[in-house]
Amino acid sequence: MQKNIFEKIIDGEIPSKKVLENENFLAFEDINPQAPIHILIIPKQSIKDFQQAHCIDMQGMTLFIQEVVKHLGIEQEGYRLITNVGTNGGQEVPHLHFHLLAGAKLKWGKMY
Ligand code: AMP
Repeated sequence: MQKNIFEKIIDGEIPSKKVLENENFLAFEDINPQAPIHILIIPKQSIKDFQQAHCIDMQGMTLFIQEVVKHLGIEQEGYRLITNVGTNGGQEVPHLHFHLLAGAKLKWGKMY
């Protein structure tokens, strides 16, 4: 089966700016940042989207995201965490990922 872009990043077939990595998860910079800090956090296991994720996957993912936040030193100033699912969610890459956005006071408003 054809690998998607994040699977190629996991396998080192295309480069990425890694922020943090462990056996099961990877955090790297988004190529098209929407905030001063824009990190993508993904499982190495192939999971299509949040709807397909098992609570055990999410346990490790939660701890890893918290670790990335500590690594970046943004616990106190705060951040936004987003996961897009499917067409209406605007998901482009069919591999579960969380967008971690930070580094400025982010805007919030009507999205449709
Ligand atoms: P989504 O729309 O939630 O599927 O988000 C996909 C994200 O992947 C977008 O924010 C893209 O900018 C980002 N992206 C696509 N290709 C790459 C890449 N090669 N390296 C880093 N980020 C990427």
